[in-house]
Amino acid sequence: MTAGPGVPFIDLRATDRLLGGELQAAWQEVTGASAFIGGPHVEAFETDFAAYCGTGHCVGVGNGTDALELALACLGIGPGDEVIVPANTFVATASAVVSVGASPVFVDVDPSTMLVTADAVRAALTGATAAVIVVHLYGQVPDMDAIAGVAATAGIAVVEDAAQAHGAAWEGRRAGSFGHAATFSFYPAKNLGAFGDGGAVVTGDGGLAAAIRSRANHGRSRSRHHHRIAGRNSRLDGLQAAVLRVKLRHLDEWNAARRRAHELYASLLSGSPVRLVSTDPRATPVHHLEVVEVDDRRRVVDELTERDIGWGLHYPVPCHRQPAFARHAGGPLAVAEMAADRILSLPMFPTITAEQIEQVCDAVLAGTGAPHGVPAAAAAPGGAA
Ligand SMILES: *Cc1c(COP(=O)(O)O)cnc(C)c1O
Repeated sequence: MTAGPGVPFIDLRATDRLLGGELQAAWQEVTGASAFIGGPHVEAFETDFAAYCGTGHCVGVGNGTDALELALACLGIGPGDEVIVPANTFVATASAVVSVGASPVFVDVDPSTMLVTADAVRAALTGATAAVIVVHLYGQVPDMDAIAGVAATAGIAVVEDAAQAHGAAWEGRRAGSFGHAATFSFYPAKNLGAFGDGGAVVTGDGGLAAAIRSRANHGRSRSRHHHRIAGRNSRLDGLQAAVLRVKLRHLDEWNAARRRAHELYASLLSGSPVRLVSTDPRATPVHHLEVVEVDDRRRVVDELTERDIGWGLHYPVPCHRQPAFARHAGGPLAVAEMAADRILSLPMFPTITAEQIEQVCDAVLAGTGAPHGVPAAAAAPGGAA
């Protein structure tokens, strides 16, 4: 039996409750106008989100995976092309490459940040490389200046998979504004989440945006009955856009709350055997996930489960070890493989309380065999490690 209530991995209802009236008003406008596909809410959200990311254009699409596929296809990437992908990412990053007929080339990640590096991209270049997908994993952003430099020299495209990084930045510049295109997911649990599936591509290239919009809308061009290409249907709907537009106004405040939660985790776990994924000081992460590394994960998750505390694994099998990508497996990738056995995601959401974080850290430390309770070194923020 657990003592008292546990801690959920994520609490979506708590953030929605903060919005009650605002959401209802937006919802009623959409249903009142029957603006279910396209329409003013989609257009307004696209304008707002492009401005938020610091890009010229945004195209709302069905989900984050479609966003990646549409971006790759409209960049002209297809059979015979190689696309560099970090091995430690959600499978959708790699699936999108396979879906357009290209081959993912998996590369290892940096052991402290778990992100792809410019050196890894440079080492993976071949004559067939057409693009790199930079994944802003866990809400961080890698050195985009260095990666963009390597890509420019090699003449390959940069696509940012920013599904976990709405509002994150590198040197003060927002995720989504570095690549030829950047893709977002609005899956409900993301930092900016819809009430269902949703996604977007942002880009500074108006021609690319128009091509993506056409491909995602049955290949329509200027007129409704003229189809220049065999497209598909992947659109952001009006109700989701209305919800997202309301939530976007609160995103910075929610990301700041995640940052405060992360700082408390860092101070409570400092001096313990638990290692937090570290961030480059030039980056502004948005802490989509609170990921730590532990030696004996089995014991820690048993302790969390015992106390009714939610946890997750992002990701326990690196992409190059997934059966789906066996053809593209490539050589051993030491960091991604080691991390897969050690990483553990702890509860993280904007309304998580200090008491809840203390409860989680207490359980994690008990599971690592550290002296029970919060270590003395962490009692005061900034205490010696
Ligand atoms: C969530 C996610 C996706 C896929 O987004 P969907 O909207 O679920 O299709 C792609 N890449 C990363 C890194 C993600 O976290």
